[in-house]
Amino acid sequence: CGIFAYLNFLSPKSREEIIELLIRGLERLEYRGYDSAGIGIDSVTNGVTLVKQSGKVKCLRDKIEAQKDALGFERELNIHVGIAHTRWATHGVPSDINSHPQRSDNDNEFVVVHNGIITNYKFVKQFLVQKGHKFESDTDTEVIAKLIKHLHVLHPSYSFRELVEQVIQQLEGAFALAFKSKHFPGEIVATRRGSPLVVGIKTKEKLASDHIPVLYSKDGCEFGGRTLGSRDRDHRTHVYELPHGLARTESTAEFLPL
Ligand code: GLU
Repeated sequence: CGIFAYLNFLSPKSREEIIELLIRGLERLEYRGYDSAGIGIDSVTNGVTLVKQSGKVKCLRDKIEAQKDALGFERELNIHVGIAHTRWATHGVPSDINSHPQRSDNDNEFVVVHNGIITNYKFVKQFLVQKGHKFESDTDTEVIAKLIKHLHVLHPSYSFRELVEQVIQQLEGAFALAFKSKHFPGEIVATRRGSPLVVGIKTKEKLASDHIPVLYSKDGCEFGGRTLGSRDRDHRTHVYELPHGLARTESTAEFLPL
């Protein structure tokens, strides 16, 4: 599949422009997976709004167009975080519910897009069901969204990054992930193990190092090690490849937060 995330803090943009950016990102990734697509954006009421649709990205575009008034197309936002996904199902049939972003609960407190497979998801799911979490999809990915909320409740003082750090220690398998949360507006946390992920930073001033403290890789590198290329010098667009996250559990049972 393909995941795409966008964080804007440079200049006010209308929600319509932001959604268009996300959809275009998905269109360019569609060759990686194409049975469903979805986006998670800042809602008009400080939460997170999800729009998900099985079928091609075009079907998602049509669904968004039909809801443009409710989505507040005209509204301008100074800071905006959006995450997007085009799916190639591995766990759970292609359907609206199984599309990403997957969510922690009905209030969309934490949402995540995922490329890859969580091989120990049944184990994690069993743990979360015992703790009272209700699952709505058949995906392996949903455990990630529920686990981060579970940890947030246990450790309300943890930063978004710290929560993701804890979550990926419980996960086995391959993943590239981008998280968004109503509790951490203006932040994206992205991480990967085994699946590819690149980060593009575009700024008129050299703000990126200070203003994107939210991209995370387990080995401590803030946003990427090797510079793949710097193109479009005038606009300072830099593309980084995130190094692999190093988190690896020996035994999941030992690491599950109780
Ligand atoms: N394993 C996840 C799912 O089936 C993600 C698949 C993908 O990479 O698109 O929902």
